Amino acid sequence: MPRRGLIIVVSAPSGAGKTTVLKRLMQRHPEIVFSVSATTRASRPGEENGKDYFFFSEEEFRRGIEAGEFAEWAEVHGHFYGTPESFLEFQVSQDKDVILDIDTQGAFQLKENHPEAVLIFLAPPSFEELERRLRARDTESEEVVERRLGVARTELELSSKYDHIVVNKEVEDAVRDIETVIEREKAGRHRSDVGNCGDNTDAAT
Ligand code: 5GP
Repeated sequence: MPRRGLIIVVSAPSGAGKTTVLKRLMQRHPEIVFSVSATTRASRPGEENGKDYFFFSEEEFRRGIEAGEFAEWAEVHGHFYGTPESFLEFQVSQDKDVILDIDTQGAFQLKENHPEAVLIFLAPPSFEELERRLRARDTESEEVVERRLGVARTELELSSKYDHIVVNKEVEDAVRDIETVIEREKAGRHRSDVGNCGDNTDAAT
């Protein structure tokens, strides 16, 4: 059978530092493909259609759902987000490893459709640290911060269902821990603890 690339899912609560860690990981590994999601949210300054996201209207997105075009999809913060299946399948069939930055709802759906996917949860060192980081951003209202903290609490509870937990205390360490998970998964799905990166195999249900 031809070799297939690895599907690597990374989820994290808001404030865990996922964007920074994934950016660094992608810089160090230009060979890894980043899965570009479709979304109905408006583009932010500097974001490019087709590079950061495929920006869809709600009607286009609903048509995509009906046509079964998404490997997973979810409603996050009031907008739809989804992973186009054709892009994912094409890359993996070319033996390319693909990283998906998706939320917890999407991660479990994806695992159902692609049981071989590796689920990594990027966690903050503690809930207090997460709260400190969210408040330090200072761009969000108290209401938004409280809502994000509530969602984060639920997401942290779901982390035990992931294949691996990587704690983001220091960006470089977290990146290295993700690299180690990828290397080990590629080398025959071998699982054991790595530094501050917890292996969740036993906890997974
Ligand atoms: P943002 O709007 O800030 O770019 O992303 C908000 C959240 O949506 C993040 O937690 C991100 O992981 C999640 N997200 C982005 N793309 C997808 C996707 O294709 N599917 C799912 N389920 N979540 C996504």
